[in-house]
Amino acid sequence: DPRIARISSAIRVIPDFPKPGIMFQDITTLLLDTKAFKDTIDLFVERYRDKNISVVAGVEARGFIFGPPIALAIGAKFVPMRKPNKLPGKVISEEYSLEYGTDIMEMHVGAVEAGERALVIDDLIATGGTLCAAVKLLERVGVHVVECACVIELLGLKGRERLGDRPLFVLVNST
Ligand code: IMP
Repeated sequence: DPRIARISSAIRVIPDFPKPGIMFQDITTLLLDTKAFKDTIDLFVERYRDKNISVVAGVEARGFIFGPPIALAIGAKFVPMRKPNKLPGKVISEEYSLEYGTDIMEMHVGAVEAGERALVIDDLIATGGTLCAAVKLLERVGVHVVECACVIELLGLKGRERLGDRPLFVLVNST
């Protein structure tokens, strides 16, 4: 798709952020390019509009940028998957491993119902731990995760493998 090249070139890479040796993929420059940002949302909407999806689950924080416009366009609700102690209501939590240590993801109880069909979205997949935690939270309450989607996949970290059988759709690959 010719739109992918423009999206890819609108993503800025910042070396040594947040620490030495990391090549940080910065999607804020994609948001400044009105055509590339719209193309990004359109590509996801074209893929998911006829898949009977009732929930778009967005992972904090950048899943909150891409998720809501997709949800609105496909007629699904948006559910935030948040860092711990941010959601005010009753939550279910899932612990997951990071490079150093662990983190926790939370979802409001009652946001989704068993049998619903979900898309999980974030800006980027690296090791896959973050997306996997979001998937597990949804599956624990009986939701079917139709697919996970990201703007960028960092190849070489095997995040895709960590997701097992669940399909992963990405727009841009990066090393
Ligand atoms: P994972 O859990 O190892 O797959 O890491 C993915 C999570 O870390 C996502 O929520 C991303 O937003 C974030 N992340 C990791 N590396 C980058 C990057 O280079 N740019 C933007 N976000 C990143």
